[in-house]
Amino acid sequence: MSETQAMFCYQCEQTAGGTGCTRSGVCGKSPTVAALQDLLIFGLKGVAAYAYHARELGVHDDEVDAFLAEGLFATLTNVDFDVDRFIGYNLECGRINLKTMKMLNEAHVARFGAAMPTAVETGAKAGPAILISGHDLLALENLLKQTEGQGINVYTHGEMLPAHGYPGLKKYPHLAGNYGGAWQVQQREFAEFPGPIVMTTNCVMAPKGDYKDRLFTMGPVGVGVQQIKGFDFSAVIAAAKALPPLAAKAEKKITTGFQHQAVLGLAGPIIDAVKSGKIRHFFLIGGCDGAKPGRNYYTDFAQAVPQDCVILTLACGKYRFNKLEFGTVPGTAIPRLLDIGQCNDAYSAVEIAVALAGAFKCGVNELPLSFIITWYEQKAVAILLTLLHLGIKNIRLGPSLPAFARPEILKVLQDNFNLMPITTVEADLAACLKK
Ligand code: SF4
Ligand code: SF4
Repeated sequence: MSETQAMFCYQCEQTAGGTGCTRSGVCGKSPTVAALQDLLIFGLKGVAAYAYHARELGVHDDEVDAFLAEGLFATLTNVDFDVDRFIGYNLECGRINLKTMKMLNEAHVARFGAAMPTAVETGAKAGPAILISGHDLLALENLLKQTEGQGINVYTHGEMLPAHGYPGLKKYPHLAGNYGGAWQVQQREFAEFPGPIVMTTNCVMAPKGDYKDRLFTMGPVGVGVQQIKGFDFSAVIAAAKALPPLAAKAEKKITTGFQHQAVLGLAGPIIDAVKSGKIRHFFLIGGCDGAKPGRNYYTDFAQAVPQDCVILTLACGKYRFNKLEFGTVPGTAIPRLLDIGQCNDAYSAVEIAVALAGAFKCGVNELPLSFIITWYEQKAVAILLTLLHLGIKNIRLGPSLPAFARPEILKVLQDNFNLMPITTVEADLAACLKK
């Protein structure tokens, strides 16, 4: 959207000039309502992704389904022009997203057991291999079952890393390790991987020619490559046997599996460490990664966090720093870096924050806890709306503020929640530690 362009909507026949309403709607829709509708649609997309995975696992929720339908209906032409009602829908979208992430967490735990801290290999074993990326743990389970006893190692990529923490998945000895980093480097990493690659969800990139023939997609994902029907991985397994094997490579281990069930198991030592001054502050540094150079901010921030502070992280933004050495909080056995899991495990982060607030008899905003969030796409929008729905203030968001959030909407977010853009590591860290 250019500076002179107040909005862009081309969803109905009466659109201005037959190309799009850019100053105000021919229908009477204001630029603010147009922006709020866009925000709602983006939030709904995030909720839909989590609801999709929950439904795959056999659970759904009538209220979530009804909200998805009503929210979309409200954005139809000539249905709702009311700014206040759309502001209500935004915050309601955050509540519904929290409910959906909770539903998905419970479905994962019911099927795979509660995640537990687990050290994960990032090197490789020699032999035939399959790489699986995205967020769909059910797809991974099916792949592991179908490759059992076949001499094929399965490696996780991107957001599949937290799978290693679940008892129902880590029990498979051929779940060999985590390979590569976040989604935006997949074109290089997939080209280097010799075996077949399965992309279960976002974030997939248009494949380069050198791995297109061994890339498989499933579910709603499609980039013009072979599509897996249901959970039938026979073509992937055949490809793994026919393609060159992966060479052995030694690398360090990283740890995942610190969802709320595991962290709350450490609640006693953590609370004691805070009370005795061994832990000064908690930072939630995480969210969606992306390709912009400014995202080095998150690596630099994590490295600058003082030794007496704990970093909670989630989603693929963690690949900016999760192979660095953070050790333990001095004088304790508490790791300084706790990987909570996938983006949907933001639910676990909320549970941890609420439990800490309960233990210290204060609100979440009074905790020595700062949110340093990196956003990229619409799941992050849904999660941001969840944090705002919970009344969480002083969130630092980057690397840039969403272009769809018009100045008047940003002002509402800044006035009510003190949502702010990231600045410099030094300034932001100092401001957080003053809390
Ligand atoms: S719905 Fe309204 S703003 Fe959108 S294209 Fe139609 S007239 Fe324009
Ligand atoms: S965390 Fe966000 S950017 Fe990363 S793979 Fe998941 S949806 Fe994509």
